[in-house]
Amino acid sequence: MNRIVVRYHEIALKGGNRRIFVRQLVENLRRGLRRTGVHRVRSTPGRIVIVLQKRNDWPEIHLRLARTFGVANFSPAMRTEPTMEAMEAGILALVRDRSFASFAVRTRRSDKSFPIPSPEISRILGGAVKEQSGAAVDLDDPALAINIELIRDAALISVDKLPGPGGLPVGTAGTVVGLLSGGIDSPVAAIRMMKRGCRVELVHFHAVPFQDRRGIDKVRELAEILARYQYDVRLHLVPFGEIQRDIVTHVARPFRVVLYRRMMLRIAAALAAQLEAAALVTGESVGQVASQTLRNIATIQDAVTIPILRPLIGMDKQEITGEAESLGTYEISVQPDQDCCQLFVPAHPATGVPVDKARQLEQPLPIDALVRQALERSETATFEFPPPPA
Ligand code: ATP
Ligand code: MG
Repeated sequence: MNRIVVRYHEIALKGGNRRIFVRQLVENLRRGLRRTGVHRVRSTPGRIVIVLQKRNDWPEIHLRLARTFGVANFSPAMRTEPTMEAMEAGILALVRDRSFASFAVRTRRSDKSFPIPSPEISRILGGAVKEQSGAAVDLDDPALAINIELIRDAALISVDKLPGPGGLPVGTAGTVVGLLSGGIDSPVAAIRMMKRGCRVELVHFHAVPFQDRRGIDKVRELAEILARYQYDVRLHLVPFGEIQRDIVTHVARPFRVVLYRRMMLRIAAALAAQLEAAALVTGESVGQVASQTLRNIATIQDAVTIPILRPLIGMDKQEITGEAESLGTYEISVQPDQDCCQLFVPAHPATGVPVDKARQLEQPLPIDALVRQALERSETATFEFPPPPA
């Protein structure tokens, strides 16, 4: 096996979109597979072919392809010359050591100059497999599916289709700003938007020096995981403690969380304007905590006009937790930390703060100045995947 065939869903891809999709996917594969023994990545009509070096790290390649957004599925493949004789020899060698009760040969010709039509190729090569193995042909539900892809100057033969994550290649759908707390939900929300092709810039609000640095350490670790899906990711760390102190002096305890959130959104929106990002992303889901009642969601959103995307809005905690586990963020998210929203708030914040009430409570705050200062004092860290060699 010296090649990998990468397949993507073609249905929704028309005209110019398709070119952009494929070009970005090729670039992402090149970046994401660095230092695994890949010789080159190139696109052929309808497929992307990865040419491997002799020495390659297949388990690692497998892992990385399985999380490359835009990949529908992929197969390790054997390259042969595009002749019937060579394909037959290749196929027979490939299935010789396998036992299977039934099989199907499926051929796809992206090089239509090959003189024999695809069904005919499948039939002829299927005959040879049947003779060697004694297995039955079953086109609907075969125990072994053998794929042949005829590309410009080669035939690629494969037997296993390994699942990719689907979605769209990161970088094809514009930029968004993801609000990253240290919790379980927000990293999952950010990755979901990456899966829809968005580049996510991360922002985290912290209350250092009013709280310790554990929260920051944690989001840095999360950002490192998130970089696996986006290859490079920036984390904007915004000092928020002083703003909270300002809010605290003017506002009774039960209303504070909602006002914290309104300020966070304003700062995130200002950051989005700087970064030319088109939307914000949060990990909110209806009813999960007091600040996420429909009423509070509306009151929080009232602070900004930029769209807020909430990819987890209808999920329950169990589903989100399961997703966090498979994405690799869960273990980090459950480590103890100090979240800035716990600062100066009661155990039971108000579950329904009316918009007017929030606006009125904010009156005494110098909002524009606070937003400007917060951005001026913020710091940016960049995370790359794979991490640069030491
Ligand atoms: P999470 O598990 O993502 O922390 P949560 O269920 O704890 O979510 P909240 O604490 O109400 O919910 O936060 C709602 C959303 O607000 C988070 O998903 C996140 O997007 C954003 N958020 C909350 N705190 C912060 C913070 N300190 N920095 C950046 N974003 C935050
Ligand atoms: Mg939280």
